[in-house]
Amino acid sequence: MEISANRMDLGFKKHCEEYEEAALRVLRSGWYILGKEDEAFEEEFASYHGQGMYCAGVANGLDALILGIRALGIGEGDEVIIQGNTYIASVMGATINGAVPVFVEPDEHHQIDVSKIEEAITPRTKAVMVVHLYGLICDMDKVCGICRKHSLMLIEDCAQAHGAMWNGRKAGTFGDVGCFSFYPTKNIGAFGDAGAVISRDPEIIGKIKVLRNYGSGKRYYNEVVGVNSRLDEMQAALLRVRLKYIDEITDERRAIAAYYDAHITNPGIIKPVQQDGGYAVYHQYVICSGRRDELMGYLKERGIGTIIHYPLPPHLQEAYAYLGHKRGDLPVTEDYADRVLSIPMYNGMKEDEMKFVTDAINAF
Ligand SMILES: *Cc1c(COP(=O)(O)O)cnc(C)c1O
Repeated sequence: MEISANRMDLGFKKHCEEYEEAALRVLRSGWYILGKEDEAFEEEFASYHGQGMYCAGVANGLDALILGIRALGIGEGDEVIIQGNTYIASVMGATINGAVPVFVEPDEHHQIDVSKIEEAITPRTKAVMVVHLYGLICDMDKVCGICRKHSLMLIEDCAQAHGAMWNGRKAGTFGDVGCFSFYPTKNIGAFGDAGAVISRDPEIIGKIKVLRNYGSGKRYYNEVVGVNSRLDEMQAALLRVRLKYIDEITDERRAIAAYYDAHITNPGIIKPVQQDGGYAVYHQYVICSGRRDELMGYLKERGIGTIIHYPLPPHLQEAYAYLGHKRGDLPVTEDYADRVLSIPMYNGMKEDEMKFVTDAINAF
């Protein structure tokens, strides 16, 4: 049996007629960027997150972070607290604006260690960013409490957490901005690049809509220096279909995770745990092993694909050499980088495939 870490074709096939109809609708419309489909998607994505939410579609998840952070007025020299074990985009969202990332170690759930946020605060700290890594979620009551106490803004990188909840409230609705990616592999994936920012504050969303279109609110009149980060109609129309099935997508991923939770019994493997209060959407199912590379090779020999998210943490990347970090600065983060392994998790995965993966891991 061949099982890849990820599959994008099955989600399409399941509702292919609706996707094809949406694509044809756009092709025949004669309007391809920022139009009716974008507006409808923004409205639907905002209302999915509850009453009083607003949304701006952008070109990708990194732009959602860059423009979300810029719209909050965070820039040169401002410090943003971010967990060490995140994807590079979280950090670039801050540094491309001139902000300085201050890394905090993760906890045993792979999320920012909430108990270590306060000691990272300085007079220059402007915001905390939580990532909801792998589709798990941290204690948002505590994070919000710290932000309120110290008058800090809160940014949520929700690229891996579409529909995740803390005590029944959705990821992306706690922060000043919630930044989403719809990269094809994400839980809500487009068929190309796409992203969005949500906020309770219509002014912030208004600013992002200006920034994403060359800093222009009125055509050919530019208020600020912006970027080109428009969402195209094709992606918006396809995302509208995907969004209809978000609960189905989440339920299926949670069922795969529940299968792994129940059946992986190898004592050398640590399984991911969502702490009480959270509702995880399992963008990835990430196990830990002290013999990770060996395990990865063992599974590969048996036709099972896995991925390391992520082998080198941001503070040790060449791009961030200027921050002056060295190995040993973030031991928990670095240890995760050596031990994490994402095992197959995709919509449309069959039970015999889950069993095959599980049996192989247990036999290792
Ligand atoms: C995917 C991802 C992003 C960036 O999204 P793109 O659409 O690829 O730019 C940002 N943060 C996290 C945590 C991600 O997983």
